[in-house]
Amino acid sequence: MAGVTYKNINKVFGKDVKAVDNLNLEIKDGEFMVLVGPSGCGKTTALRMIAGLEESTSGDLMIGENRVNDVPPKDRDIAMVFQNYALYPHMTVYENIAFGLKLRELKGFIWSLTNGAESKRIKTDIDQRVKDAAQMLDIGHLLQRRPKELSGGQRQRVALGRAIVRKPKVFLMDEPLSNLDAKLRIQTRAELIRLHRRLGITTIYVTHDQVEAMTMGQRIAVMKDGLLQQCDSAENVYNKPANKFVAGFIGSPPMNFLDAKIVSESGGLFVDTGDFRLPLPKDHPAAAYAGKAVTLGIRPESIYDATMNNPIATTKENTIDATIDVIEPLGHEYVAYLKVGTHSFLASIDAGSKIKENSQAKFCLNLDALHIFDAETEQAVR
Ligand code: ATP
Repeated sequence: MAGVTYKNINKVFGKDVKAVDNLNLEIKDGEFMVLVGPSGCGKTTALRMIAGLEESTSGDLMIGENRVNDVPPKDRDIAMVFQNYALYPHMTVYENIAFGLKLRELKGFIWSLTNGAESKRIKTDIDQRVKDAAQMLDIGHLLQRRPKELSGGQRQRVALGRAIVRKPKVFLMDEPLSNLDAKLRIQTRAELIRLHRRLGITTIYVTHDQVEAMTMGQRIAVMKDGLLQQCDSAENVYNKPANKFVAGFIGSPPMNFLDAKIVSESGGLFVDTGDFRLPLPKDHPAAAYAGKAVTLGIRPESIYDATMNNPIATTKENTIDATIDVIEPLGHEYVAYLKVGTHSFLASIDAGSKIKENSQAKFCLNLDALHIFDAETEQAVR
């Protein structure tokens, strides 16, 4: 096993498509790292560079202690699982998995299939590895079937089996679950997490799905326009987003952003939207923005129906009057579209609430979970 390090890595396609922009990122040995971001942000390109399928324009790519920029893909000791896994249709599941073995072992395997006097040791070793991988993925009973006799989820597991059996230093996964239906995706997500815990192989996983990133990544690297925005644990990316982009990308429904300004007066420090204002701790770094425009970020789940029993106490300072425009029931909660003056925003409200569309109600906000962003640079003020 080995870690992977990007050192000042750039990738420019043609003259001016900067797919990856000065990426510096260290993925620890044994870590599960998720690269996440919207379409076109450069995550696949970053992943393909590790595999050697894409050359970097500049910078150093390290696998373990070795600079691998000039090492051919086959010598990098990595295994890759794609969204469009291609299984060999004429081979059984067993043969498909065995076909993932490294060339040296594969030669032994093919020889063992065609030659009666095959080396017993190679055959036994391969057999054990295929069966171990199949058992881990719960496809042991499917080994003699052909891909057309499998469901989509089973096929994806065969593709994973083919990667596992190689015992690579690093796993690379590019949206491996996107072809699966929602239920299977959740199930396979958990299987991948268990598999990683068991094998402990450094895994770099690309997705555009922030839920997948949050649930799977030990750390999450959020990218936009080729630039790494933040790399941290799911908890920190959610609670302490580095900037407005990360704040809006992570979390569902997305964070509300409201134009506001910072007001400092004898009564204290406030963030003022013009329609309502909320107190900030006196020592909040936003004090440096007194009189200036900022963006106030409030997550929908930080807004509560003030008439209910909430994890936060309702006070005069944290309560606002809002008009309920639309309510979307989601079963366990409502997504409520609220309006206060010129401001519109979303709230995730417990489904026990009695709020009604086109009426007025009181909502309380978790003041400890407010986010302030510089209106120009969009960086978090904290
Ligand atoms: P997606 O989620 O849609 O796959 P991504 O975040 O993985 O997107 P990349 O596929 O890495 O993004 O692409 C990053 C940028 O590089 C995009 O602007 C894309 O159009 C461009 N790009 C990728 N591959 C090539 C190529 N072979 N030639 C030219 N431009 C490319």
